[in-house]
Amino acid sequence: MATDSPGTEVDFANLSGPVLVLGGAGYIGSHTVRALERLGIPVVVLDNFSTGHPEAVNVPLVEASLADRETLARTFDEWEPRAVMHFAARCYVGESVEDPSIYYRENVIHAWNLLEAMREAGCQELIFSSTCATYGNPVALPITEENPQVPVNPYGRTKLHMEHMMEDYAQAYGLRFAALRYFNAAGASQEGDLGEDHSPETHLIPLLMQVALGQRDEIAIFGGDYPTPDGTCIRDYVHVEDLADAHLRALSRLQAGVHTLACNLGTGLGYSVREVIEAVRRITRHPIPERMTGRRAGDPPELVSGGSRALEHLGWRPARSALEKILSDAWRFHEAHPKGYSR
Ligand code: UDP
Repeated sequence: MATDSPGTEVDFANLSGPVLVLGGAGYIGSHTVRALERLGIPVVVLDNFSTGHPEAVNVPLVEASLADRETLARTFDEWEPRAVMHFAARCYVGESVEDPSIYYRENVIHAWNLLEAMREAGCQELIFSSTCATYGNPVALPITEENPQVPVNPYGRTKLHMEHMMEDYAQAYGLRFAALRYFNAAGASQEGDLGEDHSPETHLIPLLMQVALGQRDEIAIFGGDYPTPDGTCIRDYVHVEDLADAHLRALSRLQAGVHTLACNLGTGLGYSVREVIEAVRRITRHPIPERMTGRRAGDPPELVSGGSRALEHLGWRPARSALEKILSDAWRFHEAHPKGYSR
């Protein structure tokens, strides 16, 4: 993908809205909405609450799905957004293997609805939530943006489809976009009021928090025979507020004239499942019983971000992503919201 290289200076003062945030009631979306609000940028959220939470949003809200092209067009007419951030998508590898139809519908067809609505409205700035899953089985570790994008599951494939659609729309219609390839989003807001609340929960860190709260008896470790130092999978955990900060920086670059951007958002540091469990024991002072089970289908042994493209292009450093910080912020949220936002 052709990528501009404008240097590292990012000036939040040039940021302007309104910004339409699709999926702004979800985990990463809600933290990004808050970061936009802090800068005084007008925001409108469109969300159908399939996985998001109304309690997580405090800005004008359109309750709709991206399947609803009429409401989408009306939202562009009414709010005249200068830019769009697109968080509204399905994001589970296992589910995507079992039921790819949902992933092609929601992550590709609905994303195309968005591109068309933007084209009709003349809106040209788009920040897209992509993923390290677009790389598939990496040819080298850590994973830089030069790694070939050969996803190995429908989730990764649908996200890569959107990257390709954006490239083609950029070429043909002048769309300007940033594809931000997240590694493992984790943590919670500094205020302790926004955090991870999925139902059912499948992610390691919130599941560990549920064990610490006594809501689960134990954590299952999905495989202890991987070719890693302790046999468990290694992941690169990045604080959700660092991800939010990267979105502001990407928007600022687009608004400063950059055409296309694609970069990894990870820390470059990997932690094994066992290391995460040990750290949760220290922070929560709970013994966290564990049980070794078989591997989960589709889990690569190690996913760690490499390179410095986010630093070079966005001036981004993951300032809050030390593992202890991620876990203590997550713990504060889960202790204060033992049943999630509303349940
Ligand atoms: N994992 C685990 N037990 C669980 C949930 C996850 O051992 O109950 C492992 C999983 O195999 C992976 C890591 O924890 O290696 C992170 O998984 P998660 O689902 O949080 O994120 P993913 O890497 O799938 O995006």
